Amino acid sequence: MASRYLEPRLERASRAVMTRLQLRRLRAQVAHAARHSPFYRRKLRVARVDPRALRTLEDLPRLPFTTKDELKENQARRPPWGDVLAVPLADVVRVHLTSATTGRPLAFLDTASDWYGFYHSYARSLHAFGVRRTDMVMAAFSYGPWIGYWSGFHAAQDLGALVYPVGGLSTEQRLDALLTYPITVLGCTPSYALFLAEQAARKGIDLARDTKLRVTWHTGEPGASIPATRAKIEAAFGARAYDLPGLTEIAAWGFECDARAGLTHVHEDYVYPEVLDDEERPVKPGERGELVFTSLYRRAMPLLRYRTRDVVQLADRRCPCGRTLVAFEGGVLARLDDMKKVRGIIVYPRRIEELVRPHRDVDEFQIVFRRRDGLDDVLLRIDPSPALALAERTGLGETLAKDLHVGLGIRVSVEVGEPGSLPRWDHKARRVLDERTEVPF
Ligand SMILES: [Zn+2]
Repeated sequence: MASRYLEPRLERASRAVMTRLQLRRLRAQVAHAARHSPFYRRKLRVARVDPRALRTLEDLPRLPFTTKDELKENQARRPPWGDVLAVPLADVVRVHLTSATTGRPLAFLDTASDWYGFYHSYARSLHAFGVRRTDMVMAAFSYGPWIGYWSGFHAAQDLGALVYPVGGLSTEQRLDALLTYPITVLGCTPSYALFLAEQAARKGIDLARDTKLRVTWHTGEPGASIPATRAKIEAAFGARAYDLPGLTEIAAWGFECDARAGLTHVHEDYVYPEVLDDEERPVKPGERGELVFTSLYRRAMPLLRYRTRDVVQLADRRCPCGRTLVAFEGGVLARLDDMKKVRGIIVYPRRIEELVRPHRDVDEFQIVFRRRDGLDDVLLRIDPSPALALAERTGLGETLAKDLHVGLGIRVSVEVGEPGSLPRWDHKARRVLDERTEVPF
């Protein structure tokens, strides 16, 4: 068996070595942004920051934050790329678009070495899942300007694995490939994994029995870090499922490891993480806050103190795998942008998924936030498994309503519909509908 680590020197670096490396890269990156990016030149001037004053990592909070809205506005005002770009356009080789639910997506550019950094750190994550050059890998993401497919493909190839490209194939063709070829590793969104499993079951295919899959990895959504969702995927595929959180504009920044201790490691030699509380102060180990990243490797669009809007919890324990990279408890715990308020109580859709998924008779669900008679109300629509007897649907609805009441602290109306009545998702799911703020889609 090859080494547990792809790059032991970095994955097990002492804190002193890692800090030295981070500081060197951070100073180079800030100097580069200040010199070559008009956007950052303006920003640093307004904030009265001299990049040379950055002497230790503790000086980082002197730099201003960067937000996604700011980047979007910059690209809208100076189409099509904005002026964050810190290299000549001739030096960039790739464009990626973020998946926007509203408005124009953000376009993100990479030089060849930026792109290498993105997929090479991703390859380190795949290695930590146990993927090796002897594996055959299917990255079942959409072919297009989104980073998911390309990064998965290039990362697997970087490890020397055999890659079966399925970006433009239908679910039917992908299922056929899984049955025909010795594919051992599958990457896709967690929603797509559940969809694929459902389609397979409908055709009488038992993915756990009829394929050679042993590892699946999931990105684009936090589902695989929710224990009940992960268990459902693992049961369907007969494989070990891993969560790989990432952001187009930062990196495929984290990974779970084969110790399966519930921790997410961060590629902190590529991206410097800060976890900040409501008052923008660093949290202590064991506490939660917003994740803020500074890129240490991307030259074309070198983002500084980028607010991810993701909530994470800084771990206060070591992972048994022996990696010294900073770690979070359980991946991305919430998205600040997904937060809903219901009768004064804060509700995150991820929490609802945590409460719904342990019920094995639920195939799909939808959450509707609405206003009735002037009061906020939450409706959970359930698409039951076809195996559930008609007479048991009422019981399922009642059990769910009780679990949600206890878990969320508010009453939720539950409607159990017909099997197959709710939409299915072949990329990122949109299970939440807020009728209070948006028109139904
Ligand atoms: Zn570990």
